[in-house]
Amino acid sequence: MGDIATFLLLFLGIAAGFFFGRLSLRDRAKDHYPKDYALNYYKGLSYLFNEQPDSAIDAFIGALEVNSDTLETHLALGNMLRRRGEVTKAIKVHQNLLARPGLNTRQQHESQLELARDYVKSGLLDRAEALLVELVKVSPTYKQSSLEHLVEIYQDENEWDKAIAAANQMDVKQYRSRSGASLGELKSHFACEQAQEDIHHKSWAKARSHLLEALKFDGKSARASLLFAKLELGQGRFREALSHLHKVPDQDADYLLMGLDMVCECYDKLGEPQALQKYLLALLERHPSNSLVLKVAERLRWEQDDYAAADFIAERLKERPSIRTLNRLVELYLPHSEGRGRENLQLLKQLVDRVVAEKPSFCCNKCGFTGNALHWLCPGCKSWGTVKPIRGVAGE
Ligand SMILES: [Zn+2]
Repeated sequence: MGDIATFLLLFLGIAAGFFFGRLSLRDRAKDHYPKDYALNYYKGLSYLFNEQPDSAIDAFIGALEVNSDTLETHLALGNMLRRRGEVTKAIKVHQNLLARPGLNTRQQHESQLELARDYVKSGLLDRAEALLVELVKVSPTYKQSSLEHLVEIYQDENEWDKAIAAANQMDVKQYRSRSGASLGELKSHFACEQAQEDIHHKSWAKARSHLLEALKFDGKSARASLLFAKLELGQGRFREALSHLHKVPDQDADYLLMGLDMVCECYDKLGEPQALQKYLLALLERHPSNSLVLKVAERLRWEQDDYAAADFIAERLKERPSIRTLNRLVELYLPHSEGRGRENLQLLKQLVDRVVAEKPSFCCNKCGFTGNALHWLCPGCKSWGTVKPIRGVAGE
């Protein structure tokens, strides 16, 4: 019903365009008005009222002259088709615009941008890229929009060098990202993606250079510090790795949990367990979280026994109720209980296990996407740095 209503609105626009187009044609060639226009127009109407929108579109494309007065109607039709997912039809409408004379340069560029958007939507990224690269060169008006689309294409294709080069050409003041991230943060993520690949291939020198670039783009990039730590750890440079990990809580406290295992490994390899415990407790004071509670409890268990770990967790549970820490408390008491008490604890653990398994650990604060892995680029809304650990009773 909504589609029919939209078509009717478009029909009114097209009718107006048809009327003016007819007048302008009459002005230009008094008695040579092409009969095909009228024929296609009435055909389109017939298709519309018989609820055959596809045929109606074909008829309207043929019926409506392309000129400055009717351009908006053509663009509205094309964009509506793209939004409805009928990209082939949208491409047809926009290609029809570009093939016709009568548009000025700015209008041609606008039609070209819409056609590029159709190609992006249909996955024809090479064709979209070619149109957008040309627009960047020739159209100051559509340069920024074209660069934004190019960045998205390069991002989808993992072509990070090209993504950075396109982002470098953007106007910082005009840039508005979906997630609220700055242009510097965006470029920093691109450089981190490169570094991540380098680290995976053990190309340490390249990784170092990309991470330095990432920090140049965004000095507060917790991701860059985490990757730097991984790079140093991979080369056995534990003190250097720690210096990067120590920066993370001030850069973005939400991500300090991602470096906890590395922090423990570094202190352990350096043979400094007391310094580790002191650091973890200080961190817990400043940035309370359940993962930190569990980590400190694990250290207490190693150094002392199950009871010391359980007492620590029980104390923290009074301050911050949490399903995950409660579960660990039950686990710690299980081996030390027997008879009826043990059976009840086992039952409680089974129930809590089920609740924990059903709860995701991460959530995008932009679109609400949830999962159990950290994605720097949200798979739901394609925003950078919006997926964070979930807090509260069921999370951190
Ligand atoms: Zn999202």
